[in-house]
Amino acid sequence: MRTTPNRNQLRAFFVMVLVDHATGCWLWTGRRTPQGFPLFPQCPPGPARLDAKVPSAARTSFAWFRGLLLPWPYWAIGHRCQNPNCVNPAHLHQRRTKRGEVVERPDRHALAEYFRHVRVESGCWLWQGERNADGYGLALARDGRRVSAQRLAYEWFVESLSARPARWQLDHVCNQRSCVNPAHLECVSQRENLERIGRRRRMR
Ligand SMILES: [Zn+2]
Ligand SMILES: [Zn+2]
Repeated sequence: MRTTPNRNQLRAFFVMVLVDHATGCWLWTGRRTPQGFPLFPQCPPGPARLDAKVPSAARTSFAWFRGLLLPWPYWAIGHRCQNPNCVNPAHLHQRRTKRGEVVERPDRHALAEYFRHVRVESGCWLWQGERNADGYGLALARDGRRVSAQRLAYEWFVESLSARPARWQLDHVCNQRSCVNPAHLECVSQRENLERIGRRRRMR
């Protein structure tokens, strides 16, 4: 998504910028967060504005001059120049946050590879591949990243989770951590999930 700034917005932005000719960095002279990230209060609504409190100048720059793909918090802006105070779009890149693992639609090969690791047992799809320390399945995404196997199944067969607000979890209604059957997965808030875990413990 690319948002197009008008002249006044551009002027308000660039009046805050000091170009460092040695590094090419666009140093922000306006307000900053306590962590040193530039704030642009005139940041227009849209993906560049994280929330009402954090109108990020770097995100504004990226959205205007490069284009943002997804709403926060699924993308974060990184600085190639290592200078957190820089807003030069050429020095910025967007990276996925952990929650924002973007799942591609599976093709035949991806599905075949996925189900090579699945053993069906009384309705559960038990993941036979790699698992993390907590026993949850890990699958290999096309670009080589390890991703949650259950999340992959959920996104492929139920719905995309990228646009959800943060702090959801996939709950196993079958109580089998290694199960990746999307019909056994429910996307609930973190709080709801903790309550469910507590209830199940008490029932044991
Ligand atoms: Zn820079
Ligand atoms: Zn199951």
